[in-house]
Amino acid sequence: MIPTPRPAHDRFRPSIAPRLAPLPAHADVIVVGAGAAGIAAARTLTERGVSVAVLEARDRIGGRLVTTNLRGHPVDLGGHWLHAGPINPLVRLGEARGEPLRVAAQEGHLFVSGRKGRPAEAAAHARAFSVADRALTVQAGLDGPDRPASSALPPGLGPWAERISLVHGLVSGRPLTEVSLHDFPSMEYGDNRFIAGGYGGYLARLAQGLPIALNTPVVRIDWSGPGVAVEVADGSVRHAEAVIVTIPMMVLRASPLFNPALPPETRAAIDGFSSGIYEHAVLHWPSAPFQGRDRLAAMVGGRHRPPGLLTRVDDTPFHFFELDTHMAQALDARGRDPDAARRLVRSVLADHFGHRALHDLSIPAISEWRHDPWSLGSWAVVPPGHAPARQRLQTPIGNKIWFAGEALSRLQWGTAGGAYEEGTMAAANCSLHIV
Ligand SMILES: Cc1cc2nc3c(=O)[nH]c(=O)nc-3n(C[C@H](O)[C@H](O)[C@H](O)COP(=O)(O)OP(=O)(O)OC[C@H]3O[C@@H](n4cnc5c(N)ncnc54)[C@H](O)[C@@H]3O)c2cc1C
Repeated sequence: MIPTPRPAHDRFRPSIAPRLAPLPAHADVIVVGAGAAGIAAARTLTERGVSVAVLEARDRIGGRLVTTNLRGHPVDLGGHWLHAGPINPLVRLGEARGEPLRVAAQEGHLFVSGRKGRPAEAAAHARAFSVADRALTVQAGLDGPDRPASSALPPGLGPWAERISLVHGLVSGRPLTEVSLHDFPSMEYGDNRFIAGGYGGYLARLAQGLPIALNTPVVRIDWSGPGVAVEVADGSVRHAEAVIVTIPMMVLRASPLFNPALPPETRAAIDGFSSGIYEHAVLHWPSAPFQGRDRLAAMVGGRHRPPGLLTRVDDTPFHFFELDTHMAQALDARGRDPDAARRLVRSVLADHFGHRALHDLSIPAISEWRHDPWSLGSWAVVPPGHAPARQRLQTPIGNKIWFAGEALSRLQWGTAGGAYEEGTMAAANCSLHIV
């Protein structure tokens, strides 16, 4: 058998490894997965006095939130923005804990064919985005039948139409032609936060002292008898009254985990998601032509059309160059090679800023969440016609199996805040059924 290469981000160690507690001999509830949803569930159950055992496949906690140290700076290889500040439970909790949160800058950079955009161009760019956002959210409504989000983009966006589709396609995880309009309006961009030390570092602090077993992939969940029997890869079986499953949808889709099989409507809800693609190429580029901390940069004109960069992350020489579905698919068509991604990123930047501007550029990390066997994508995307799936999965199966994770969140889909919220709710509801 040819071994599958590890995803490129997997060789970086987390900046914080929390001290974990041993699993109890018997737990009332088993939580599968120690990402944001699993950690929220474990914290909630513990607070309610329900005994819990968390089983995690990887050799670290955090799932798609992981911070590593690069050249002495904490850098997120997965989620980085605390989106939707007013409704994000991780913002609320962070404020209560005195975590080092800061409000994300609203200003951005616009480059047009390598030169700085003129004020009139920047104003037209911003105006086009607000027209498009209104059409995609407020005006789209939920009355008619579902359709691709792309179909709601209004005419008259002029030269900015392509850029708007690219950016919304990037943050949706798929091109807008493949995204449900009914599902789309949930995202809130306006009021974001960042956290010093990285989002993964913050989640690691929240996992401190929880009973989590690492390197423990769950291979079977048997719910045929009373309670559940959860089997892990070494063949051992743990029994509990209930299980909270936070495995990403794309992984669940690929695994026949349950015995008996899940009810058809649950299975259909899981199988209907598509895999969202959003990858970071982490740039170390001290002389980059971007001033100011944590600014988004848009580059238009030129041969290549990159969907976006987040520049001077945390006031460091690091920047995130984001890869969308098109770029990732084009790279994968030529075989898996993180160096090919580095070459692509360099050629895009050279196209816009010239080769000489790249004299001190290095690309220390590239993420490959789409090839990570424990995520198979960056988040779950709802294609047109599949909008009820998130809510459907919130219904427990036989009061024994609860699902949680980013994919279930209606208002904060695809985000760590959404995952945390869903993990908290699943645990709160599940604890009501534990006697
Ligand atoms: C590059 C990138 C950028 C992103 N940017 C942002 C951002 O800026 N802001 C934001 O809020 N969100 C962002 N996200 C999304 C965010 O990271 C996720 O939505 C969130 O972390 C998902 O949490 P979760 O608990 O649902 O899933 P996960 O974090 O994936 O946790 C699930 C856990 O289950 C484990 N697991 C899987 N299968 C098994 C098994 N069989 N047995 C045991 N364990 C198993 C996995 O190893 C994992 O640890 C980004 C994601 C990526 C990849």
